[in-house]
Amino acid sequence: MTKVNMNLKYDDLVNKIKTYIHDEKELKKIDEAYQYALLSHAGEKRLTGDPYIGHPLNVAYILTDMNADSNTICAGLMHDLLEDGHHTKEELREKFGDDITNLIDGITVINRLNFSGDKQSVIANHRKILVGLSEDVRVIFIKLADRLHNMRTLWVHPEHVQKEKAKETLDILTPIAHRLGMSHIKGELEDLCLRYLKPDVYFSIVEQLNQTKNEREHFVDEMKESVSELLNKEGIKHEIKGRAKSIYSIYKKLDKGKTFSNIYDLYALRVYVDKKEECYQALGIIHSKYRPMPKRFKDYIAMPKTNMYQSLHTTVFGIHERLFEIQIRTYEMDEIAENGIASHWSYKESGSGVKASLQNAMEQKLQFFKSIIELKDELTNDEEFVNSVTKEILNNNVYVFTPNGDVIELPSGSTPIDFAYRVHSNVGDHMVGAIVNDNIVPLDYVLQNNDIVKINTNKNSVGPSKEWLNIAFTTQAKNKIRSFFNKIDKQEYQKRGEEILNKELRKRKVGFNEFFSSENVETLLSELKCETLEEIFMNVGNGKFPVGSVMNIIYSETETKEDLILKRTQNKEIKLPTIKTDVIVEGISDIKVNVASCCKPVPGDDIIGYITKGSGITVHRMICPNIIEEHERIIPVHWNHQILKKYPTSILVEARKEKNTLLDIISKTSNHDIVVEGIKTLKSSDNDLYEITVVVTHLDVLKKFMNDIDMIPNIIKVERMIQ
Ligand code: MN
Repeated sequence: MTKVNMNLKYDDLVNKIKTYIHDEKELKKIDEAYQYALLSHAGEKRLTGDPYIGHPLNVAYILTDMNADSNTICAGLMHDLLEDGHHTKEELREKFGDDITNLIDGITVINRLNFSGDKQSVIANHRKILVGLSEDVRVIFIKLADRLHNMRTLWVHPEHVQKEKAKETLDILTPIAHRLGMSHIKGELEDLCLRYLKPDVYFSIVEQLNQTKNEREHFVDEMKESVSELLNKEGIKHEIKGRAKSIYSIYKKLDKGKTFSNIYDLYALRVYVDKKEECYQALGIIHSKYRPMPKRFKDYIAMPKTNMYQSLHTTVFGIHERLFEIQIRTYEMDEIAENGIASHWSYKESGSGVKASLQNAMEQKLQFFKSIIELKDELTNDEEFVNSVTKEILNNNVYVFTPNGDVIELPSGSTPIDFAYRVHSNVGDHMVGAIVNDNIVPLDYVLQNNDIVKINTNKNSVGPSKEWLNIAFTTQAKNKIRSFFNKIDKQEYQKRGEEILNKELRKRKVGFNEFFSSENVETLLSELKCETLEEIFMNVGNGKFPVGSVMNIIYSETETKEDLILKRTQNKEIKLPTIKTDVIVEGISDIKVNVASCCKPVPGDDIIGYITKGSGITVHRMICPNIIEEHERIIPVHWNHQILKKYPTSILVEARKEKNTLLDIISKTSNHDIVVEGIKTLKSSDNDLYEITVVVTHLDVLKKFMNDIDMIPNIIKVERMIQ
């Protein structure tokens, strides 16, 4: 592991870079980036008291541990220049080009995300990191390097900041590092997190390791020598290193209930050879002398882990009856085991070509990456996205096999349905059954590690059942099942919509092709903001577009608002309102008051009350002939100052027979204080006679309306009705 280097010099960085970057132009560019950052940060200090430039220098150095390309190193050196407002993107773009500037911009965006805010914003920010992964993984490399150096100097912060940063690192960044196969950086981050989150546990493990250090080293050295001798005898060129278990991994084992001495029994060695075959040869040689412990042998060479890790693992009964865990791998495998996807830099490319080849490698080699991309496209809700990624992709998984031996990684709890949809949507959609380890299993069977899963499909199957939504575990499978049904529903709505339109057109005696002439279709598409005719059908079918409104787009010129009112009001019965507070009865407060249906008074009319037998008071117009003789039943009433309701009243209109008289009358109601509620055509001989019922707020409005009607040329007479 890289030692914390407080006094890292620029020369150290340059020397490290020169071990793998030899192009003079690139080295010069890195130098320019460093000088630029140095000048920009001049005079600034970190909380540690060190000159600020030490931070970007260390970040760049950590990036060289991943063999980063020159642009990523440049961006690492300048990663804080946008954040602190030293420079603008335009300045950087002009001096260092698009690729470097985009990287710096990317890391600035991520560094500005706040993970201590409310849940929603934390989730939204979490998503940005995950999505950032899928856009340019180099930004995540810089983020990891930046965080690693900040974690190494975390002691300078107050305790609550330490805990917050450590938790965030453990929640978000180490799972990502793990998935990217970057075990080197992941291991150091985890140990640092533990040191700040559980200092007592951390330091107790450190102390116990120290106490047993001498004994451990002694046994490991002795075993190393013995194994080395065996391999030399067989002529296998190799190197062997003692391997320190990470403090975090010991903590995890303690956490699972093991005792320290128990874990501690596990002495660890790692054997490096040149070629893959030599891994197996070395294994055989070691097993021939030291008996392997049953069930502890793992061949991750033939079956790499889903983060690309390759190695042979075995645990043997070694010298002095100690258990030794031995890993055997080639140097190339070791590079991938340590740096994961970051060992896939392409030095033939430069700039965004590097990005493309890395992204390509991610797509080819990392299953989880494909899942993130799919989820990113399907889910719009931040919380759903982050939950599915963290729960289903970054967390506990089972590893199962296709009949060909391909490893498929799924979250624990997954069923054959999840497996089928992970392989391909078509496999899921046509699945009719599943066979696990040669046995037929029900679809809700929960997959176990190392299950061999075969999905039976039938091309003629009608598709998934809705019940599968309850059985499937992964969001991915559920989304695919849902989208299957959405597609089906869509087709059905389309068919229904077309039928509805057809029926309406038959009713109107319009031909389907006539209505959907190419000219009309163009109008409909633009008015309804649809892309295709099918989309219109679908929206009529699902009720989003009422069929009438679709018709009206084409026929709107012939059917006016007046036509609509006319339709609504022909021969409609009018209800008379009961009055609560609009009319005041002298001397009586709590009595039922109705308006009289014979003369239909409106506010502003002179009125009088008539005491009925058993149903309160009826209000008539003063001039109403129906109450003249009944003095003893008459009681004074008057309108309140504030009238709440509108009142219906009827007028009689006589007109010469001519077209459109009613439309002319209705067109006089554009004033909102008067509404035509009903129209009755009364019998007449020479002229048309209409009873028009309107509701009005006040007599004045009514008078104006009647005046307006009177002005229409063919009107003979307008008067209020009393029956
Ligand atoms: Mn930084």
